[in-house]
Order: sequence, then structure tokens, then C-alpha cells
Amino acid sequence: MENVGLIDHHCHGVVKGDLDRPRFESLISESFDPPPGGTSQFDSPLGLSIRRWCAPLLDLDPLPAPDDYLGRRRELGADEVARRFLNEAGLAELLIDTGYRSDEVHDLESMATLSGLPVREVVRLEAVAERVASSGVEASRYPDALGEALTDGAAGAVGLKTIVAYRGGFAFDPARPAREEVVHAAGPFLEAASTGAARVADPVLLRHAIWTGADLATERGMPIQFHVGWGDPDIVLHLTNPSLLTGLIRDLDRVGVDIVLLHCYPFHREAAYLSAMYSNVHFDVGSALHYHGASARQLLAEAMEVAPFSKLLFSTDAFAVAEQYYLGSMLFRRALRSIFDKWIAAEHCDANEAERIGELIARGNALRIYPLAT
Ligand SMILES: [Zn+2]
Repeated sequence: MENVGLIDHHCHGVVKGDLDRPRFESLISESFDPPPGGTSQFDSPLGLSIRRWCAPLLDLDPLPAPDDYLGRRRELGADEVARRFLNEAGLAELLIDTGYRSDEVHDLESMATLSGLPVREVVRLEAVAERVASSGVEASRYPDALGEALTDGAAGAVGLKTIVAYRGGFAFDPARPAREEVVHAAGPFLEAASTGAARVADPVLLRHAIWTGADLATERGMPIQFHVGWGDPDIVLHLTNPSLLTGLIRDLDRVGVDIVLLHCYPFHREAAYLSAMYSNVHFDVGSALHYHGASARQLLAEAMEVAPFSKLLFSTDAFAVAEQYYLGSMLFRRALRSIFDKWIAAEHCDANEAERIGELIARGNALRIYPLAT
């Protein structure tokens, strides 16, 4: 496992430029709130992991004070820091979601340069819908315009992603909406977009975007990723339980669309169950791993309780802070090794089997469901 290049099937760009302490702390938490007065985001599983495991890569002893860590980070410069963490992560390929705060983070080309790795794009359905709305299209043209924009925008992409979790959650009618319904719902959305507020939140338009994405996913043989559970406070947590997607999962299964449930915590057991029941469902525990820090092993072990070995994928879901690439990969390798050591000690498998299963999770499953050879 140590030498297997991991395919990071869900990650984001690294932030451009150096970071002061408030900015860095805001990027190692999913909360929108600053920490309460007198406390620090460094006092968290992720903060502790950064001080323990990332400091040596910046030539510091483990567990430096946060200010010393950030001082050294600025001394080396953002790009050198990014290169060190990306290099040490042992990744083979990055599948980058370009739809979130893209003006603040490096684009695909500079991520390829910084990492020295092949970089592929995953396109957010809602971001395309919002771009179409801002283009001044008429409501009657909206359904076709979205289809065309998606075909164009995802021409070089290897996957699609929906953040419907952030737009009301999963308790929606899974049926493909009728064209008249879409045109009707597009009116107020386009109206709002003309004043600069293009945020797709209408359930009909969200479902339409997913089904338009499903058409393209079928045609191109690529999966649709769903943000699930763990994320910022824009979600209402219980509405992002993936079991609420059961109807849509069945409908998408019938038309041959693969789904990847991302992050999933605290619903990683529900995700594992769904992956065991439906052939089109895959999942990962992504950023929840580095946010678990010292408890990453337990999270991964729970994700592996019932999931078929062909259904779990690796991702860092690193966003903005390059440390997340390194920690995502390092904590995953350590956790997996420790889980397999236990299995081998208890004679559930041998080292060869463990290696084979590990390789499926690390890269084989991604190679099977994403069109990475093209
Ligand atoms: Zn993400």
C-alpha cells in the first residue's frame, strides 16, 4: 500500500498566496463562525494533526506553537508549501471540483504545475445552471440551454457533481420534472439572476439539473458525485442522510448512472449500506478523514464494515490548504494499514489479499467508474 499512487477522486484547488492566522484558521474549519474568544481552531483533531504531522515537512519539530508553524509557512512561501505537501501525499492523479470559490484557489493548470500530476475536472451541475441563468437566456429556452452548456462545459470533464445537499437536502421528489414545470420554475430564477443573484434553489430546477446531468453521464460513461453529510453549516444535517436519496438512486440505477456519495460522515454507515444494496452506489469518507485526525482509523473501519470492497473510494477532499492533501493521504494509508494488520492478525485475510483490497480502494475503483483512460 505504501507505494500505491492514490487517485484522489474528489479535491479542490489550493488557495493562492500566503495566509495570516485568522485566514488559515478559517480554512481548517468548516464553520462560518470564528472560534469563541480565547480559543483556536488549532485545538481540534485537524489542528492537532497539522501541528504533529505537517510541521516536520516544513523542517519544524512536531507540535510547534500555531504562530511558529504559520511563521515558517510564510517564510517558505505558499507555493513551496503546496509543492512539499502535494509531493509527500503520494497521489497519482487529481480529480478537481472546480465549482467552489474558484477565484480564490489555483485553477486546473496551476494545480497540475504545483503537483506535477495529471489533473482532471469534475463539473458542478448547479454552477453551470447559475452560469446559464446569468447569461440572460429566456425561460422557454432554459431547459435546452442548460443541456447545451453542460455538454460544452463538461467536454473535458470525467465526472459531474451536485450540491443539492446544500440547497434544501435530499427529501425531494426524485422524478424527472416535465419541461413545462422547468420553464415555469425558471422564470423567477432568471429574474433573480438578472439582478446578480443567481442561486439555484428551486427543487424543480435542482432535479432538472440532476436529470440533465444524468443524460450526459449516461452518454459519457461518467458518474455523478453527491455531496453528503459533513460540510459547512449551509446544510441541515438530517436532510443530507443519503437514505433520503433511495428513490433517486433506484431511478438512476435503471438508466445506468453511477453515483458517488462524498464525505458522508456521520452517515457513512448509511452510505456503506446503500453501496451494498445498489450496484450504482459508491462512496468515500473524504474530508471527514482529516477532520477526524487521530480518530481517522475508526471512521475508515466503520466505512468498511459492510461495504463491498469495490464500492469504497479514496479522496482527500482537500480544499485551499495544502496540508489537507498530505493529511488526507497519510491518515488514509495509516488507517488502512492498521485495519488490515488487525484483519491479518485475526486471520481474516493474508497480506496479499489486504494489498489487493487496498489497491481497489486506493485507485482501482476510481479507474473502473471514471473515464480516466480517455
Ligand atoms: Zn469537496
